[in-house]
Amino acid sequence: MTKAGIVTVAGKPNAGKSTTLNRIVGQKLSITSDKPQSTRDRVVGIRSTADAQMVILDTPGLLDPSYALQAAMRQTAVAALKDADVIVYLADGRTGPPPSLQEAAGLESPPKAPVITVINKTDLLTPADRAELEAACPDALMLSALTGDGIDALLVNVEAKLPESPFLYPEDDVSTQSVRFFTSELIRETALEQLEQEVPYSVACEIEELREERNPVYIRAVIYVERDSQKRILIGDKGRRIRDIGAAARVKIESLIGARVYLDLWVKVLQNWRRDANALRRFGYSSQNR
Ligand code: GDP
Ligand code: MG
Repeated sequence: MTKAGIVTVAGKPNAGKSTTLNRIVGQKLSITSDKPQSTRDRVVGIRSTADAQMVILDTPGLLDPSYALQAAMRQTAVAALKDADVIVYLADGRTGPPPSLQEAAGLESPPKAPVITVINKTDLLTPADRAELEAACPDALMLSALTGDGIDALLVNVEAKLPESPFLYPEDDVSTQSVRFFTSELIRETALEQLEQEVPYSVACEIEELREERNPVYIRAVIYVERDSQKRILIGDKGRRIRDIGAAARVKIESLIGARVYLDLWVKVLQNWRRDANALRRFGYSSQNR
């Protein structure tokens, strides 16, 4: 009998959820960034071995909803907790012993699925800090998602908690998300990498056209920002910044799809889109249309 189930990776922004997911799947699927909130949707990665399959949900940061985008993100994260068969609760070890997931996420009741608490970024801890954390949280697993130290123990633990079940997806799938989705995430990630404070959360990306049958593959994408001043920042002096973003994003997309790409990249303003329910739906950030 095989085992299979949904594994939700949860935790505060910047805890290392996306890095852990990529490690588990063994491939870059979810965008990582040192700016919080880089994962705005549930990215599904799949790990299949001979007798077990993990379908992995990445969650956006469990934040206090203070404006429309964050409220939609939080709903998405809470829904991913409800769907889980196993929850991997990740915390940054540098901030000391973590609160329970229920407390951290402000849940009324504890999640139904078993929770594996994982203390991440052990590569940044002194041996003394590590020993202190191990004593304070005896049930937690120690991990460095960055170096991979501790990942095998985590996988063994997750697999032990999966329900007996046939595989949920074909065994050679690594993701159920479309090329279109990952392409837009890679462009957004690249823009975030090259931008200063403040602008990042105003950046959304929409793929207007994607023609995989062409050589090179043709992609027309629009980066949306909220104000003219942000558009000027993104375009940069003589268009230099948007050209740099486009060039770097193109390389990443080419390695994702394994083909040459022509990326036709534009910047447009959609006034205050983060406070606009229609715009949130259009960019896929609302959980209602799922
Ligand atoms: P998320 O917001 O929880 O998805 O976090 P990310 O996976 O995007 O990681 C946030 C930042 O922490 C990135 O700069 C990662 O490279 C970094 N990071 C993640 N895991 C580790 C780790 O184990 N060690 C170190 N040193 N950095 C890490
Ligand atoms: Mg993330």
